[in-house]
Amino acid sequence: PLAQLKDPSLFKTDALISGKWISSSSRFDVLDPATGHKLADVANLTAADATIAIDAANAAWPAWRNKTGKERHAILMKWFALLMANQDDLARIMTAEQGKPFAEAKGEIAYGASFVEWFAEEAKRVNGETLPQFDNSRRLMVIKQPIGVCAAITPWNFPLAMITRKVAPALAAGCTVVIKPAELTPLTALAAAELAVRAGIPAGVLNILSADDDNSIAIGKVICDSDIVRHLSFTGSTEVGRILMAQSAPSVKKLSLELGGNAPFIVFDDADVDSAVEGAMASKYRNAGQTCVCANRIYVQDAVYDQFVAKFSAKVKLLKVGNGFEDGVSQGPLIEEAALEKVAKHVADALAKGGKLQAGGKRLAGQFFEPTVISDATPDMLCAKEETFGPFAPVFRFKAEQEAIDAANNTEFGLASYFYSRDIGRIYRVAEALEYGMVGINVGVIATEHVPFGGVKQSGLGREGSSHGMEEYIEMKYLCLGDI
Ligand code: ADP
Repeated sequence: PLAQLKDPSLFKTDALISGKWISSSSRFDVLDPATGHKLADVANLTAADATIAIDAANAAWPAWRNKTGKERHAILMKWFALLMANQDDLARIMTAEQGKPFAEAKGEIAYGASFVEWFAEEAKRVNGETLPQFDNSRRLMVIKQPIGVCAAITPWNFPLAMITRKVAPALAAGCTVVIKPAELTPLTALAAAELAVRAGIPAGVLNILSADDDNSIAIGKVICDSDIVRHLSFTGSTEVGRILMAQSAPSVKKLSLELGGNAPFIVFDDADVDSAVEGAMASKYRNAGQTCVCANRIYVQDAVYDQFVAKFSAKVKLLKVGNGFEDGVSQGPLIEEAALEKVAKHVADALAKGGKLQAGGKRLAGQFFEPTVISDATPDMLCAKEETFGPFAPVFRFKAEQEAIDAANNTEFGLASYFYSRDIGRIYRVAEALEYGMVGINVGVIATEHVPFGGVKQSGLGREGSSHGMEEYIEMKYLCLGDI
């Protein structure tokens, strides 16, 4: 699929440190999850390279920090324009290495680029404060400064957006960055880095360390141990988030963590059922169920339960599964064997515990899994407790409002939640009672660049996107001026 790139020079397989493409004799394979074919062998950087990249970011920091916000704005706007001008090629690379349907990949390029545009604009708005004095010989103020060298460790499910959501605010604020993209999807990241170079982002300001899974762990350790790296932003599993948090304790690093979810999707009996079915389709099956905000548990109230299950299953059966480059495909492959095994395990467990199969249920040849719906789900099932991260929707029945709220909150996670109701009183009650960082009400897709995305409980720390996303990369400094 990559032979058809309009600009083949976007196909980069080396890492970027201090403005130079760094080759390495050690390489790792990147595979197409739809076919199993090898797409590239990519430079496998080491812990020693990570130290070099951190030093390069530190050396580049003073000049970048001393640019005005408007100067950084102009460079970031060029990067945004180049990402959008190369949307098709970037999407092609993304579908090839990640598997999501081409139209969805194009959507992610636009979504990923939108963070660059948004934070380019925010670069001009890092305002300080003046405060009332506590005695008349003094003046008090707060200035805002970039935190320093930042690191980003990102996952494979959104190969561009998870990078730009971290890197764009860091760069806008005047920080420099070292990025360790997911080992399964480094090609989109490297192509975006090539466009950053073309946009005029100076050498050392943005560095990318491609690495296989073992070297990623070693590089993560160097990043966490470093006193130069002042901030680490990570998106991925809660398990790895905990490791990075523990490793960052000795250097008291500031952390932004976007970890696992276990999103409830509640349909009350006063909901517009057709709209709820549409929302559940979009929330559950986007990216083959491989997003941290995908509905993981669907709770439907007694009176509309049968109607919802029938309409939802009928729609799910129409989804076309296949290679993301084929026309009309709405669900691509899963990312790897382990992902397929987890979905199969959750489905088998639900069926063994009394779940009734309503759609799908089977693994297909290659890395594909049928979009699956199981009704009569119960709290003892694995899918009630763990994030499936795949195209399987268990549907639970409930009677009272409080019962749904309690079930929804009965998890250590707290990222996204969704519910459908037309009753204004219930909307406020439930929205306030859900222990989640984000609540979709009568919608199944909520992410955009100008809202604060993030979770509570063990789903993470901090927020990405919006003006709040900028604060993660800024330190405030209090100035007290005497002798006036
Ligand atoms: P997922 O569950 O989405 O695969 P992971 O949490 O395993 O997510 O991985 C997300 C990112 O974290 C990837 O870039 C991966 O290389 C990196 N990673 C995984 N384990 C570690 C670790 N121990 N230290 C540093 N980075 C890690």
